[in-house]
Amino acid sequence: MSQNLTAETEEKEVVSRHFIEQEIDKDLKEGVYDHVQTRFPPEPNGYLHIGHAKSILLNYGLAKEYGGKFNMRFDDTNPTKEKTEFVDSILADIKWLGADWEDRLFFASDYFEQMYEKAVFLIKKGKAYVSDLSADQIREYRGTLTEPGKEDPFSTRSVEENLTLFEQMKNGAFADGEKVLRARIDMKSSNINMRDPILYRVAHMTHHNTGDKWCIYPMYDFAHPIEDAIEGITHSICTLEFEDHRPLYDWVVRECEFPNPPRQIEFAKLYLTNVVTGKRYIKKLVEDGIVDGWDDPRLVSIAALRRRGFTPASIKRFVELCGVSKANSSADYAMLEYCLREDLKLAKPRLMAVLDPIKLVIDNYPEGESEELVAANNLENPELGEHKVTFMKELYIEREDFMEDPPKKYFRLFPGNEVRLMHAYFVKCTGFEKDENGNVTVVHCTYDPVTKAGSGFCERKVKGTIHWVPAKGCVKATARLYENLVDEEKGVYNKEDGSLNLNPDSLKVCDNCLIEPAVAGAKAYDSFQFVRNGFYCVDYKDTTDDHLVFNRIVSLKSSFKLPKN
Ligand code: ATP
Ligand code: MG
Repeated sequence: MSQNLTAETEEKEVVSRHFIEQEIDKDLKEGVYDHVQTRFPPEPNGYLHIGHAKSILLNYGLAKEYGGKFNMRFDDTNPTKEKTEFVDSILADIKWLGADWEDRLFFASDYFEQMYEKAVFLIKKGKAYVSDLSADQIREYRGTLTEPGKEDPFSTRSVEENLTLFEQMKNGAFADGEKVLRARIDMKSSNINMRDPILYRVAHMTHHNTGDKWCIYPMYDFAHPIEDAIEGITHSICTLEFEDHRPLYDWVVRECEFPNPPRQIEFAKLYLTNVVTGKRYIKKLVEDGIVDGWDDPRLVSIAALRRRGFTPASIKRFVELCGVSKANSSADYAMLEYCLREDLKLAKPRLMAVLDPIKLVIDNYPEGESEELVAANNLENPELGEHKVTFMKELYIEREDFMEDPPKKYFRLFPGNEVRLMHAYFVKCTGFEKDENGNVTVVHCTYDPVTKAGSGFCERKVKGTIHWVPAKGCVKATARLYENLVDEEKGVYNKEDGSLNLNPDSLKVCDNCLIEPAVAGAKAYDSFQFVRNGFYCVDYKDTTDDHLVFNRIVSLKSSFKLPKN
C-alpha cells in the first residue's frame, strides 16, 4: 500500500514537471551536463513586456531550482537599433521582478574578438567562405521551401584567399554589402536556414559599446550560440520561432569545437488576449501621444505594470499558471488581474475614498462636535491593525450612493431609506437640495445613536452599507480609472488598415476625490484598497508634494474563475 502511494506521488511529480524540466532532468541523469546555467538575452532595443517576464522568470527559476547560475546578457551585436537608455530600463525591470544575476552581467559585444577568431577558425577548416554575391543574388540562389538552392559561385575560393578577404573585410577594404562571410553547409538542405547562411556582413556603423572598432558584424544565428558557449550556458531557452534555427545553432557550436556545448530548447511565447505587446504598435501609441510614454499604466510593459501597481509576486503567479508549453496559446488578461487581487487582498490597508463626492448633512448630529471611530485596516487580516476616522455632522459620500427616485433593488440612500455608514452609524435620508440645473448638491439625513458600529445595541438591520469621508481633514486627490486600451468588441486590429481599434474610454480621470485622512503621507508606489471600489497605487510620475495621484490597479469585481484541473 505505502509503496503504491509512493509510486503514485512520484508519478504525479514527474507529470507536473514541465517539458523543459524533464529535458534538464534527463541531461543531468545522463551526464550530458553536471550543472545548469541559463541566461536571459534581450536586445537593448525597447522596453520589456509581460512576455519577457515569462522568459526571465523561467530562466531564473530553472537556475535556482537546480542550484545553478543565471546570466544576464545584452544581445547587443546589432549596431543599428540599440540604445543605452534601454539597458538601464531593462536592468531595472529584471531587478524589480526579482531575478538576480549577481555579478554575471554580460554584453555580447564584448565577445566580438572571439567571434572573429571563431570565424577565422571555420575558414581554416574549410567551413566558411567569402562571397561577392549581392543580397538579392543570395536570396535568389537560396531557393525556396520547394526548390533546393544553388551553389554560390564563390564557394570554391581557397582557404588562403578566404582568409585574406575576410581580413580585408575586417580592415574596412569593402563597402557595406560588397562581401559577406557564409557558412559552407548544404545548399540543398530541406531547412533553408542551413543553405550556407551568412555569418558576417560588412556594416560601417558605430556601435554603442565598441565604437568604430568594427566594420563587420556577426549575424544573430552565428553570434548567439557562441555567446552561450563562451559563458558556459547549458540550456539555451528561447521561443518557438527559433525551432528551425536549432540545426544551425548545433552546427555552430559543433564546428567551432566548443567543449560541453550548450543546447537550445524552445517554448511557446506568452500572448495575452486583447492586449497590445508589439513594440511597433506601442512605439506608435507613444509617438502619437495616445499613451503617456512606455510606462503608461494601460500598457503591459513591465515598467507600466510596475507604475500601475502590479506586484512581482502577482506576475510570477500568473506566469506559473500559464505554464510552459510547446503550443502557442493566449492567456486571458482577467487571469493576470485575478493573480493580482489574490496578492493584494490581504496585504493592503483598506480606506474609504469618495471619487465623485456629494455632501451628506446629518441634521440631528450636534453642531461643532465630532468623534473618533475605529476602522480595521483590513477585516480579513487583523495583523494590519486599525486606524481612526473622524465622524462629524458634515460628510461626503459617493454621488452614485444617493438616488432621488431609485429603481427596484437599490439599497443605498434615497428619501425615507436607512443605510449603514461604514464603521459608524445608521442614517436615514430625510431630504436633499438641488442647484438651478437640477443637480443634487446636498443630501440630508438623521442618525440613530444606538446603531453605532461595534456597540452591539442595535437589533434592526439595513440592506445597504456605504462609505464616506469627513468633510474636514480629508485628503483631496486625483484617481485615474483604466479600461482596456483597445476595443474588445471590435477586435484589437482594424481589418482594413491593420491599425488599432482604440477604446475611447480607456482612461477616466476623477479630479475631486476625497480620501480619509489616514492616506496622508502616502508615497509613490504605495497601494491601498479603496473600499467598494478597487486597488489603487500612488503614481510616481504625476504625484507632487501636495497632490496625490492614484492609478486604479484593478477593480474589486471579477468574473474570472481559476479553472479546476
Ligand atoms: P519583440 O518580438 O517584441 O521585438 P523580442 O522577443 O525580439 O521582442 P528580445 O529582446 O529578442 O525581444 O527577447 C529577449 C528574450 O525574450 C528572448 O529569449 C525571447 O525569446 C523572449 N521573449 C520575447 N517575447 C516573449 C514572449 N511573448 N513570451 C515569452 N518569451 C518572450
Ligand atoms: Mg528579438
